[in-house]
Amino acid sequence: MSNPETGTIGVIGLGNMGLGMARTLLRDGFPVIGFDLSAERQAEAALAGATIVASVSELYAACKTVILSLPAANHVRMVLTGDAGLTSCDIDGRLVIDTTTSEPDVTREIDRVLRGVGHILIDAPVSGGPAGANSGQLTMMVGGDDADVARAMPVLESLGGKITHVGPVGAGHAVKIVNNMLVASHLLTMSEAVRLGNAAGVTTENLIAALNAGSGRSAISEVNYPKWVMNGAFDSGFTMGLMRKDVRLAMALARDKDVALPVCELAGQIWAASSELLADDADFNRITECDPTHAGAKS
Ligand code: NAD
Repeated sequence: MSNPETGTIGVIGLGNMGLGMARTLLRDGFPVIGFDLSAERQAEAALAGATIVASVSELYAACKTVILSLPAANHVRMVLTGDAGLTSCDIDGRLVIDTTTSEPDVTREIDRVLRGVGHILIDAPVSGGPAGANSGQLTMMVGGDDADVARAMPVLESLGGKITHVGPVGAGHAVKIVNNMLVASHLLTMSEAVRLGNAAGVTTENLIAALNAGSGRSAISEVNYPKWVMNGAFDSGFTMGLMRKDVRLAMALARDKDVALPVCELAGQIWAASSELLADDADFNRITECDPTHAGAKS
């Protein structure tokens, strides 16, 4: 499906998500060049068929379209507007698709800088985890001008199963933060529901089966509990560290926009306190094992 409009696709950040996206693009026939700071991730991407380069400037020179899948906003800022970033390269306009869970205001600020030197930025954060990245079935929440989003569509359609254009640049990142604030809160309310149901004599299996047929269900009861919690697998590919980042971003956004969120604020405090018990690299579903009534102790 190589496309003259999108050209060679560069992927910066070949972690749990970026590597899956690279694999999907390669499977769909796009030529892919990858870059990651980690030699291990580089080797895995090379094994998948991506060409690996030694610097982001080499990647920018060779790729008309660049996908970012980085931990957070500061990494995005560095690779785009930092010392050896895109803005320091003397090249024609590039299309940058930022799939990082990042910060709307930072995204808008970077967009202004990039646009000033002829580049285009859209934000397209994702939901669906490594499985969605590997299968091209991500849910994508896209922010950008209509024409820019249309230009990115061949790449978005390769990566995404459900693509929603939610507004101008930065809107995708705002929606993703709201989405993950709900996921973080739902994980806590679901774990309370299980504790209550168990205490009242119902097995977790029966509780979940009934809830999933009823109006109390959520992605947590339908997907997370059966797939990663009840079987003890805890191998979703999304970490406590990244979810704590997302919860922090939601709390900061609420403060910044002066929006009161008393229920989610409490969830935010529980997620922040979990750092004493659960390491950054633990699976994010482990939060269900914390009993906040016992000062964050495992239940
Ligand atoms: P990850 O930690 O597995 O991967 C990030 C990669 O970026 C790492 O391989 C790291 O070496 C690389 N990196 C860091 N700084 C870099 C730089 N300056 N240049 C090049 N590479 C650099 O994280 P992930 O799970 O793949 O998540 C990536 C983003 O997607 C995050 O913003 C996360 O919040 C979001 N996200 C993750 C999931 C999930 O289920 N894992 C789901 C939705 C969204």
